[in-house]
Amino acid sequence: MSVIKSKARHMQGRTCVITRRACFSASHRYWLPELSSDDNAALFGPCSIAPGHGHNYELIVSMGGSINEDGMVLNLSDVKHAIHTEITSQLDFRFLNETWPEFDVSNPNGCLPTTEALVCSIWKRLIIHLPVVALRLYEQPNLWSDYLGNAMDSFLTIRTHFAAAHRLARTELSQSENEKIYGKCARPNGHGHNYLVDITVRGSIDKRTGMICDLSALQRLVDDLVVEPFDHTFLNKDIPFFANCVPTAENIALHISDKLAGPIQAIGAHLHKVRLQESPNNAAEVYAETPKLDIQPESLVTVVSHQ
Ligand SMILES: [Zn+2]
Ligand SMILES: [Zn+2]
Repeated sequence: MSVIKSKARHMQGRTCVITRRACFSASHRYWLPELSSDDNAALFGPCSIAPGHGHNYELIVSMGGSINEDGMVLNLSDVKHAIHTEITSQLDFRFLNETWPEFDVSNPNGCLPTTEALVCSIWKRLIIHLPVVALRLYEQPNLWSDYLGNAMDSFLTIRTHFAAAHRLARTELSQSENEKIYGKCARPNGHGHNYLVDITVRGSIDKRTGMICDLSALQRLVDDLVVEPFDHTFLNKDIPFFANCVPTAENIALHISDKLAGPIQAIGAHLHKVRLQESPNNAAEVYAETPKLDIQPESLVTVVSHQ
């Protein structure tokens, strides 16, 4: 008598994206030999100070593929081995300027080991071994770079915050009508939030500085145009734009996007995304370059939570 074994297929053939996190600590210094000490200091600020400074880097590797007969996209031990051999064992506790040849700036083709340059170099090493679809590298919780494999499109995000009050109400409606729409948020004297703002810029990486744009210029723009005017204000009353526009998270994110797009273009990058988080429970995202929702899948925002 023959026994018919049913063969479980374990979702074989269907596709999935998996992620793996890895950490390393490393130091670097932003210094170009063709520039004077003053020019290095002016361009790179404290990052130019010898002998350098360090970060606890966090790398998130996203890999895509179809599920095999074991129910996996990839065997995790192979993933761990590739990331360890190719990346963390080479970078952990090292001075990045002296690790990989592309960061040797005594060579005219070398570039500085910025976060955006480093994530591209990591991609080139991992893509030989793993089906990488996206990489994110955190230099610190408020600065990270994403790379999706297109040399022209590197992404750099800086995170900042401001505290502000607002009231959600349309001026042409009665209090009771506003409360029907906005609930407690329409109460007459307002309420406040500690807003988190993530500004993502896109661009190609400069072959020498390793940067998408001048980071300190970007930080200055965000401080001058967003944080300084919005921080410790009642948005409806203190920001003229919100006199006639309800300051919902969506509208604030769009207003920030409109304020920053031109100035960011002027420093050589493109504003890609503004993400405004109003509370741990809600956030609004504006894709400044793609008005339609034909957006790249967001890699991993929820994988690692940074407070
Ligand atoms: Zn640094
Ligand atoms: Zn609110």
